[in-house]
Amino acid sequence: MPQPFTATVLTIYPEMFPGPLGHALAGRALQKDIWRLDVRNIRDAATDRHHTVDDEPYGGGPGMVMKPDVLAAAIDAALMPDDARPRLLMSPRGEPLTQKLVREFAKQPGLVIVCGRFEGVDERVIEARGLREISIGDFVLSGGEPAAICLLDAVVRLLPGVMGKHESGEWESFEQDLLEYPHYTRPREWEGRKIPDVLLSGNHAEIERWRQRQAERLTKERRPDLYARWLRRRTERK
Ligand code: SAH
Repeated sequence: MPQPFTATVLTIYPEMFPGPLGHALAGRALQKDIWRLDVRNIRDAATDRHHTVDDEPYGGGPGMVMKPDVLAAAIDAALMPDDARPRLLMSPRGEPLTQKLVREFAKQPGLVIVCGRFEGVDERVIEARGLREISIGDFVLSGGEPAAICLLDAVVRLLPGVMGKHESGEWESFEQDLLEYPHYTRPREWEGRKIPDVLLSGNHAEIERWRQRQAERLTKERRPDLYARWLRRRTERK
């Protein structure tokens, strides 16, 4: 039996985990041992009396920086023999997280994720431990923990056996460079609003065409960048 997907999270706030990852889809998968969560307190790797993890920046400036020696010791202690898992650092300077990256991560044996705090981490530990910097968007959080939770939530739902119906996931936003079409459920009329007739037609080909057109319309309106890429890929496919 191969080991289940194992996420090791390095943080100074271990009590933030599993948090949302302990609920719903991800939480059930955790219980079923489809994936494992190994949370490590970076502070445990500090050897001084006060368990210091940060220090003042060389060159001056505001805030504190996470110490390379302590962080490296925490990473080293968390690695398994022949650990082939990608090592990530949550960082606003990182590669933007996309569904494509999420799919790549879901194929790995697991992930080692470092959550930054303060102004960030000493540059040398990023180089020395080969940390791949990943950003969840162009905004600044106060720490890497919520970012790690977002990333893991997206990855875990793609692990085999996590999502109920296998097809759910295929027609979702981003899987085809298009945003998803609008959804409707009962009641059929609500506050005077009806649902599109085509959804009641029972004509599945017609419904598919309608959904595709809606997805294209929404993407064109809201995400011209995605729409341009979708147009380009469509031309390539032809
Ligand atoms: N001084 C830094 C911000 C530090 S925020 C800068 O200007 O770039 C503190 C920590 O929060 C970071 O080390 C990182 O781990 C996390 N973080 C903040 N924003 C993030 C984002 N958009 N994506 C991923 N991690 C983020």
